[in-house]
Amino acid sequence: MNRVLVTGGAGFIGSHLCDRLIAEGNDVVCLDNYFTGSKANIVHLLDSPYFELVRHDVTHPFFAEVDEIYNLACPASPVHYQYNSIKTIKTSVMGAINTLGLAKRVKARILQASTSEVYGDPLVHPQPESYWGNVNPIGIRSCYDEGKRCAESLFMNYHSQNGVKIKIIRIFNTYGPRMNPNDGRVVSNFIVQALKGENITIYGDGKQTRSFQYVDDLVEGMMRMMASREGFIGPVNIGNPHEFSMIELAQQVIDLTGSASKIIHLPLPADDPTQRQPDISLAKAELNGWEPKVQLREGLIKTIAYFDDLLKKGQ
Ligand code: NAD
Ligand code: UDP
Repeated sequence: MNRVLVTGGAGFIGSHLCDRLIAEGNDVVCLDNYFTGSKANIVHLLDSPYFELVRHDVTHPFFAEVDEIYNLACPASPVHYQYNSIKTIKTSVMGAINTLGLAKRVKARILQASTSEVYGDPLVHPQPESYWGNVNPIGIRSCYDEGKRCAESLFMNYHSQNGVKIKIIRIFNTYGPRMNPNDGRVVSNFIVQALKGENITIYGDGKQTRSFQYVDDLVEGMMRMMASREGFIGPVNIGNPHEFSMIELAQQVIDLTGSASKIIHLPLPADDPTQRQPDISLAKAELNGWEPKVQLREGLIKTIAYFDDLLKKGQ
C-alpha cells in the first residue's frame, strides 16, 4: 500500500484525486488550509481508515512519511488567486520548496500540478511543451503564472541538484462537479447563471477560446504520470484538445439547461489569453496512450446536475 500526500486535497481537483487514490487502495493524507477548498468535498472519505485530513498551510514546512506527493495546493481561479496575490506567490514558491524538501528527505516521488498559464497569452498554437510562453511578468495574472513558472524551475533544480524524483504536468482548463460556485471560472459562472435564470456574462467579444477537460480525464492523466517510467519527468500537457469559444460554451450551457438567460457582454480582464489548446502528443506517447474520453456535452451534463443539486440545497 502506497502512502500518498495530496496538498490542496480538499479542493475541486484534489478531492477527485483523493477519491481515486482511496478507491485504488492507497493510504491518503489530505492537506489543505481550506482557502478555496472545503471539508464538504471530502466529507464522504472521513470514515475511511485509510484517509487522514490535516489542516495545514503549505507555506510552512510539513513532516510526514510518504511514498508519493501530489502538490496541488494553490488557488486556481483568477478571482481567488488575485484576492491575495502575494499569498498566491508564496503558496506556489514556498509550497514547492516545502514539499520538495519533504520529498528529498523521505525519498518520495513528487508531482507538481503546473498549468497552461505558464504559456501566458500564447503566440504558438496549439501549445507544445517546448514553447516557452508569453507571460506578462508584472500583470494581474503574474502572481499565478510566475509563481507556477518558479515552481517548475524549483522542481527541475531539486531534480538535477538533489536527485529528487519529480513529475511535472501542465493542466489545461478543467471542470466538473465540486468546482467552487463562487470562484468566477467560466464554466461554473455560466452554469450557475443559467440555472438561476440570470444574465450570462461573457467577458469581451467571447471569441477567445479555451479547451475544457473533464476532471475524471485529468485524474487519470495525473495517476498515469505518477506511475510513468522513472526517466520521464515532463513537463507534460494534460488537457482536452477540443477548443471552444466562450460564445459557443455559453450557447451549449443555455441549450443543456433550457434556460431563458440572456447573454450580456462585460469588459475583458487585462492579459486574458485569446486562445488556448494543448498539444497532447507527448502525453499520448509517454502515458500509455492517455487521451481525454469525456466530451464537453457529456461533462457539462454531469456538472449541471451537480450545480442544480447544490442550488436546490440552498448552498
Ligand atoms: P481549488 O482552488 O479547488 O483547489 C486548490 C486547493 O488548494 C484548495 O482546496 C485550497 O484550499 C488549497 N490551498 C490553497 N492555498 C493553500 C495553502 N497555502 N496551503 C494549503 N492549501 C492551500 O482549485 P483546483 O481547480 O482544484 O486546482 C488544483 C491545482 O490544479 C492548483 O494547483 C491549480 O493551479 C492547478 N490547475 C487547475 C486548473 C483548473 O482548470 N482547475 C488548471 C491548471 C492548473
Ligand atoms: N469568462 C467569461 N465570463 C465569465 C468568466 C470568465 O467570459 O463569467 C472568460 C474569461 O475572460 C476567459 C475565459 O472565460 O477568457 C476562461 O476564464 P476562466 O477564469 O475560467 O479561466 P482562465 O482564464 O484562467 O483560463
